[in-house]
Amino acid sequence: MEFTEKALVLKVGRFRETDIWTRLFCAGHGVVTAFAFGGSKSTRRFCGCLDPLVLATFRVGGNKRGTYHVLEEGTLLHGFPGLRVSPRKLGMVVHCLKFVEAVQIGPQGAKPVFDLLLETLETLENHEVGAELLPMLFKAKLTFDQGLKPDLALCVRCGKLAEDHADAGHNAVAFSVERGGLVCRQCGDFEAQPFSLGAARVLEWISHSRPADWPKLDLEPEIRRQTGRVVDRFVAYHLGLRWENGIYRKI
Ligand SMILES: [Zn+2]
Repeated sequence: MEFTEKALVLKVGRFRETDIWTRLFCAGHGVVTAFAFGGSKSTRRFCGCLDPLVLATFRVGGNKRGTYHVLEEGTLLHGFPGLRVSPRKLGMVVHCLKFVEAVQIGPQGAKPVFDLLLETLETLENHEVGAELLPMLFKAKLTFDQGLKPDLALCVRCGKLAEDHADAGHNAVAFSVERGGLVCRQCGDFEAQPFSLGAARVLEWISHSRPADWPKLDLEPEIRRQTGRVVDRFVAYHLGLRWENGIYRKI
């Protein structure tokens, strides 16, 4: 059960007098809970590592029966000072961290999500990302990368090219969360959300983008609204998670 790897601290809590529990996102093992016994006193073993939003290399062991993880020691790599000084950026980061925790990333496929999260944090620390777009971009990219990318080129019912309806303007297509993609006007689907080809192109761009590209994205308010609403509904339907009052609820 013992391993040493890079991890981002998602949450920290105290129990008993000097003991600390942490929720870590480990690059190879995904999200794990680990206990640092005596952690609040031991500056030698955990110097600066036991705080949320800290990137560190941790040596993780287990108890004798192998039923839980024990943090043996940590080496601080980066504390993201540029994010901590901005309440606005910190709010966006907290949203992303809660999402990662809620998705319950296990060892399978942890590394790409870990890399996505780190690049997101580094981008936001060093650049501006427009108008609170970051959590939406992160959620969409993470969800699409899980093999859940919607079909954004063809109508999911009749198979015609969505771009063929471009003349119809703003209401050319709709988005069906249940069917996982665009529905053209002819096929009409009362359950589908009004959507535009512009918003579909934005989702397509997000699926091919990486966080370093995100600072250059600037969206019109209507496109932003449509994209954000569809991403939230898509995440709710396919991952069973809804953002409510500052936390992700399983639905
Ligand atoms: Zn159709």
